[in-house]
Amino acid sequence: MQKELPPRVGPALYIHIPFCVRKCHYCDFVSYPGQAPGVMAAYGRDLAKEMALVDTRWQPGPAATVYLGGGTPTLLPGVELEAVLGAVARTFGWQSGAEISMEANPGTVDTAKLQALRAAGVNRLSLGAQAFDDALLKAMGRIHRRQDIYQAYHLARRAGFNNINLDLIFGLPGQTLASWRATLKEALALQPEHMAVYSLQVEEGTFWGDLAAAGELALPGEELELAMYQAARERLAAAGYQQYEISNFARPGYECHHNLTYWLNHPYLGLGAAAASSWQGRRWRNYDDLGQYRAALSAGLLPRAEIDTLTRHQQMAETMFMGLRLIAGVDLEAFRRRFGVDARVVYARELTRLYQVGLVEERGGHLRLTEKGLPLANVVFVEFV
Ligand code: SF4
Repeated sequence: MQKELPPRVGPALYIHIPFCVRKCHYCDFVSYPGQAPGVMAAYGRDLAKEMALVDTRWQPGPAATVYLGGGTPTLLPGVELEAVLGAVARTFGWQSGAEISMEANPGTVDTAKLQALRAAGVNRLSLGAQAFDDALLKAMGRIHRRQDIYQAYHLARRAGFNNINLDLIFGLPGQTLASWRATLKEALALQPEHMAVYSLQVEEGTFWGDLAAAGELALPGEELELAMYQAARERLAAAGYQQYEISNFARPGYECHHNLTYWLNHPYLGLGAAAASSWQGRRWRNYDDLGQYRAALSAGLLPRAEIDTLTRHQQMAETMFMGLRLIAGVDLEAFRRRFGVDARVVYARELTRLYQVGLVEERGGHLRLTEKGLPLANVVFVEFV
């Protein structure tokens, strides 16, 4: 059976870049389309201020993983991205062998930018491919087309990236199983080191959310969505990718260490507007609003909007439902070492119910989702909330 994957030891830093060319129809991430270059440049300077404040307050030490997400980080000019990474290097530093990831929209990269990122230390690129189908990409409101994915991918390889993830989405309106299989085939032909396949979540407040509320969004339906998920699992397994999380697949040794931090419920620090942190038993989220974010930093304050102190019960529950996302599941001995209690005793009632319906199982000292439980993970997670 698959073993639990150890995260890189040390702090994980997430940096949110909340800018996009325009809003995709399904997107509920905090991102502001159409911002002027000056706003984005000022944001980079604000990030450096926040880093200095965070370092003074917590001195987290050299990062084990850094992840620049968004938004569209690659919308920033190369020189500004270099400045952000330079500020990380100067303020916290990173460990030898650290994983430095960046999300990239295929419509926003060129050779110069990719080379600048590589030179600045980025060693993992996550390309938001989403679909190899121009009609679907257009319907999603994406700025890129199928050809841009190929272009970005090959430019990234030439710039020296040897750890590339492709993100794909299934369950899209109008998507057929044949179209999804074709997308998988094209993605696999590129031979990325990592693939993430997500089912579409239609969120309130998005363009598609409004259409769905009005009954005007034709979604594939549960059965077809499940068939798409299983098709992805089969194709990826056959191509040598190991599934290590509900939506994530990697060639051996290419699991995303930054994301493992979240799934193992280990501490992380988030920088930038809307970024979340979980550190020393507290969880907080920065202001979403760029003006509030900036005003706090100008006053020499951390831009935190909400701060919660996590109870031991909350920490245990999060460790359970985040850990169950991993195919290896929750390491029961690690849980006992961390909380001083046996998860099987704390959650005896919930687990009895889940065992009875065959959604979880205990194997090799781990509690994990069964084959049946994998596509029904949300049903399992609510038991621990
Ligand atoms: S590029 Fe990503 S963050 Fe930006 S609007 Fe589209 S889905 Fe959202």
